[in-house]
Amino acid sequence: MNKIATPKNTKEMVSKYGFHFSKSLGQNFLVDYNIIEKIIRGAGITKDTNVIEVGPGAGSLTQGLSEAAKKVVAVEIDKKLIPILEDTLQGYENIKVINEDILKLDLHQLLKDEFDGGDIKVIGNLPYYITTPIIMKFLEEKVPVESIIIMIQKEVADRMNAKPGNKDYGALSVAVQYYCTTEIITIVPPTVFIPQPKVDSSVIKLNVLKEPKVKVEREDIFFKVVKDAFGKRRKTLLNALSSGDLQFNKDMVREVLKESNVDEKRRGETLSLDEFASIANGFVRRI
Ligand code: SAM
Repeated sequence: MNKIATPKNTKEMVSKYGFHFSKSLGQNFLVDYNIIEKIIRGAGITKDTNVIEVGPGAGSLTQGLSEAAKKVVAVEIDKKLIPILEDTLQGYENIKVINEDILKLDLHQLLKDEFDGGDIKVIGNLPYYITTPIIMKFLEEKVPVESIIIMIQKEVADRMNAKPGNKDYGALSVAVQYYCTTEIITIVPPTVFIPQPKVDSSVIKLNVLKEPKVKVEREDIFFKVVKDAFGKRRKTLLNALSSGDLQFNKDMVREVLKESNVDEKRRGETLSLDEFASIANGFVRRI
């Protein structure tokens, strides 16, 4: 069928429906089918795969997904795009479009209602401003999806993928790598979008682990330790953990760090997930 992801076809659709791109909804549409094929290949989609697409836009990626996957449920917040999607995706029987804000959906219910077994992958070319909340919603709510493959601002993908000691390593790296292994699939220049964003994008694949990467007694304490450790980047761990939200006294922090074999002068950005877990578990045993 005629590809939606070309500059000509996308422009025609947009003008046929008098559609105006919304900056606040992060609307930059993909107009290069090579990138779409790369995303689909990198995601490992087969005829047994169920897909949740976040933000189908005019349907460029949705069309490719539909041809490769078993079923695609596409969640689009902008009701002005619904008639466009009905037009562009006409004749594709395995797509269901839902006009909703993904952040407001009950995702466990969506899975129950729409899919009858098989692997589920989440895919999207995500608006930059809600990338993290969308990903964290799937991960924190423990929605049973196999992987999340998303195109996002390159800088954010680098942070998700960063290892201890790297300048990009921070609370987002730890949060994502607690739940997933990560791999960058490709880097995408601004020229493949209409309108063009100002920065490069990356496609990153998050393979969701069956169990979190490290065993923690209390996730709330683990994430607070991470937040405090990165909150005061210039401070040593001893100072960061005794002056952050947790407000633990210095003697206790010293004791816990020693027990975890972590030098109190180190900084958060050098700590592995295992070390964060060991420290958090040490605090849990004392409170
Ligand atoms: N997938 C299309 C493509 O690649 O051409 C469009 C990508 S565009 C970067 C992001 C899309 O996400 C837009 O269509 C926008 O309206 C939609 N969107 C933004 N916030 C959303 C939300 N909270 N829930 C669902 N869709 C959202």
